Amino acid sequence: MTERKEQTTTCCIAGGGPAGMMLGLLLARAGIDVTVLEKHGDFLRDFRGDTIHTSTITLMEELGLGERFLQLPHQKARELSALVGKTRVRICDFSALDGPHPYILFMPQWDFLNFIATEAKKYPGFHLHMNTEAVGVIRAGDRTDGVVYRKNDEMHTIGADLTVACDGRDSTLRRAWSLEPRRYGAPMDVMWFRLPRSGDEGVDTGAHLERGRMLVMIDRGDYWQMAYLIPKGTDAKVRARGIEAFRQSVRDLCPFREPARVEAIKSWDDVKTLVVEINRLETWHRPGLLLIGDASHAMSPVGGIGINLAIQDAVAAANILAGPLRAGAVSRDHLAAVQTRREKPTARTQLLQRIAQRRVIGTALAGNRPIRPPFWLPWLLARPPVKRRIARLIGIGLQAEHIGGDAAARAS
Ligand SMILES: Cc1cc2nc3c(=O)[nH]c(=O)nc-3n(C[C@H](O)[C@H](O)[C@H](O)COP(=O)(O)OP(=O)(O)OC[C@H]3O[C@@H](n4cnc5c(N)ncnc54)[C@H](O)[C@@H]3O)c2cc1C
Repeated sequence: MTERKEQTTTCCIAGGGPAGMMLGLLLARAGIDVTVLEKHGDFLRDFRGDTIHTSTITLMEELGLGERFLQLPHQKARELSALVGKTRVRICDFSALDGPHPYILFMPQWDFLNFIATEAKKYPGFHLHMNTEAVGVIRAGDRTDGVVYRKNDEMHTIGADLTVACDGRDSTLRRAWSLEPRRYGAPMDVMWFRLPRSGDEGVDTGAHLERGRMLVMIDRGDYWQMAYLIPKGTDAKVRARGIEAFRQSVRDLCPFREPARVEAIKSWDDVKTLVVEINRLETWHRPGLLLIGDASHAMSPVGGIGINLAIQDAVAAANILAGPLRAGAVSRDHLAAVQTRREKPTARTQLLQRIAQRRVIGTALAGNRPIRPPFWLPWLLARPPVKRRIARLIGIGLQAEHIGGDAAARAS
């Protein structure tokens, strides 16, 4: 039996993260009626990466938004380095990238998503519903015919020619069809908190690995976003040792020594634990439904590249699907073409993340060997071909997508 639909749209997107908002903008720009459902009331969530990759800056320029985009508050990172034991290792040098933007940006994700939402709302076909949680799908046999959602404690339905799950790694729409991704595991979880920052401290965004511990610091302008890595599943153990033991461990790893700064962690309420996971669906689509971004392949924070993958998925999906959506003729083959386009770069990127997790992070957190990078590592990382590859992997990704195909046609 097909459920009654209170409203209809051509494409319904569940989730207003990087994948969902970018896809919404591109489809609306191509003249397609698109509705994005976002369960939160704003984009002000803290538990997201803040990286804007070189490829995303290029996409903004292809959309004619480059200048305005670069006026948003951001910090440029021209290289990424880590302190491994006592040795500083330059992991990525973006000067190896060709083009006008040899860097990545650190920009609060809420600024990025607000910017995309503002641009998308300029197109009459774009509808963004905040505080709107997708809770299931409208079924017609094995086909997804739209979304069942909750708003203001009431249930509603919206019919759609195509539904796209962009609702992240705990995807509700994925669960609605009992789709189980293959899980690859991760040796760590992340404890996430802020420390105050003032002016130029002579310290950059970077990581510090010590035997049994690892800390990543992200410069967010007026504060440091800190990520303290712990062995998977040990959150309760770390908390049981007490907040002062935690503060001390952070003090030991921080490059700044003023004890006062770490006192900003007043209690465990200031520290959130984020579970890290890498997984991937075997098939990213079903009749009437496509899953992209973390909903089809959860990315680890390693390398800070998950946002790029999510955005690149959205661009590929828009390029392939804008024409069929406009013609009312999206087939299973079109949805499969999106997966074919994106699966290989995704699987390879995840493989590299898994290697880094096992060899570097897992070994550091196991804490049974002194942390010292192999003597040849700095030499290897400085070789031009290696430098170029790492800069491309982080800044651009293994397969760069550009606005093209039917998504390039702009709505009047
Ligand atoms: C600790 C940690 C740090 C990370 N740091 C980085 C980093 O620095 N750089 C980087 O590139 N990647 C990073 N990643 C990976 C990155 O966060 C993801 O790969 C990326 O956010 C995926 O984007 P997405 O749009 O697919 O999903 P998400 O960003 O998860 O967005 C999903 C959206 O859907 C909404 N939503 C969820 N369920 C529903 C529902 N039922 N109905 C309606 N809306 C819903 C959510 O509120 C959210 O807005 C990190 C991951 C972790 C775990």
